[in-house]
Amino acid sequence: MVDHNFWNKEVECASLAATKNLHDDKLKQQLAYVCASSKFYQQKFAAYGVDALKISETEDLQMLPFTEKSELRESQSRIPPFGEHVACNTEDVRRVYSTSGTTGRPTYIGLTKADIATWRETASRVFWANGLRTSDRIPLVVSPFVVAASYADAFEDIGTCIPIGVNMTDRLIDAFRFAGATALLCTASYPLHFARSLAERSIDPKSLGLNLILAGGEPGASIPEVRRQIENTFNCRVMECSGNGDYGAMVWGECEHRQGMHFLGQGIIHPEIIDPDTGVSLPIETGTKGELVCTSLDRECIPLIRFRTRDHVEVTHTECKCGRTGFGIRIIGRTDDLLIVRGVNVYPAAIRDVIASFAPELNGVMEIQMEQAPPLGWEPPIHIKVELSAHVEKDEYLKQKIELKLREKLIFRANIELVLEGTLPRYEYKAKLVRELYKEKS
Ligand SMILES: [Zn+2]
Repeated sequence: MVDHNFWNKEVECASLAATKNLHDDKLKQQLAYVCASSKFYQQKFAAYGVDALKISETEDLQMLPFTEKSELRESQSRIPPFGEHVACNTEDVRRVYSTSGTTGRPTYIGLTKADIATWRETASRVFWANGLRTSDRIPLVVSPFVVAASYADAFEDIGTCIPIGVNMTDRLIDAFRFAGATALLCTASYPLHFARSLAERSIDPKSLGLNLILAGGEPGASIPEVRRQIENTFNCRVMECSGNGDYGAMVWGECEHRQGMHFLGQGIIHPEIIDPDTGVSLPIETGTKGELVCTSLDRECIPLIRFRTRDHVEVTHTECKCGRTGFGIRIIGRTDDLLIVRGVNVYPAAIRDVIASFAPELNGVMEIQMEQAPPLGWEPPIHIKVELSAHVEKDEYLKQKIELKLREKLIFRANIELVLEGTLPRYEYKAKLVRELYKEKS
């Protein structure tokens, strides 16, 4: 039930003991379902020598193995399109999202009707905590968020959704000028790019009536200077939110006290924070730093047990004046080398695979140039230096072919700079694919 301050006060403000009871019960149900229906987990638990049906509370999760994204990907390559980790009947899959993988082959995430409902519920809790209200009108920009349709569900539950196509800056501007839009969900790096588009059209960003920016998809809005700059440019409030297509599209959101993003997936997802090196589960206390691991508590299509998100987080608070009891986090980085370009996941290894496919004209040596610190460093086009093979000359057509293929395969815009063989540094062991030039300057 909607209270003025909360989307679902009963669960968001429940005592920690009540939330624990809820999670213990839901976990037992989820594990019983997984053991009965998921071939992937039947095999995984058997190989690990553990009986998941003996788990009776969330503290016991530590007895179970982690699930890695790479395992899901391999499972999908073996049994396309959804993999052996699908636990429901395929005819019950009602929506499919794709995310880009390290190899350029997308991974697919299916949702049943019940899954769509739980994603909508957590997204509504998050957007409401962020300050979105019934009177708000919010354009839905389908790109870059591949899970955007689930945000539309939540926008419509709360306020008014205005769907806009991909890369249609003028239509987005019109939504504010002529359709009364008041809020925008985007990545942390997008607002300043949007401001430049407005300047090119001689439109004052403050004149748009944009009151609230929900910044998700990449870390950045928690950096005070980035936030201040966006807020001053648009005369609006910037609120941070987060989630991920694998474990739950939108699960974390800041409240008006802005201490960090509250956990708002009560009853649907169980979060843990682990030491990424040892795998040991850490206590949830202010200051705890580690990798976020999420377990599904109420998922039909792809229940995930101890999914390693690779998001490196810090616990910002465990108590808040707003009354929400979910602890707060901020995302401080990735425990892998993932780049997030306007909310789209891009793995350097996947870029390298695309470059390698241009043999024999290219020799496969490349370097991604990061000229500015994130989030601005993720602003497309991403500058990539690529070596030509010996005796191959620079060729504008080849440059364009590579850029097109990267855009098609990995959904981001690149600026390819072809360089002669031997120009880029060589590494004895693992090649360094990303060069952080902004660190060299300072
Ligand atoms: Zn709060």
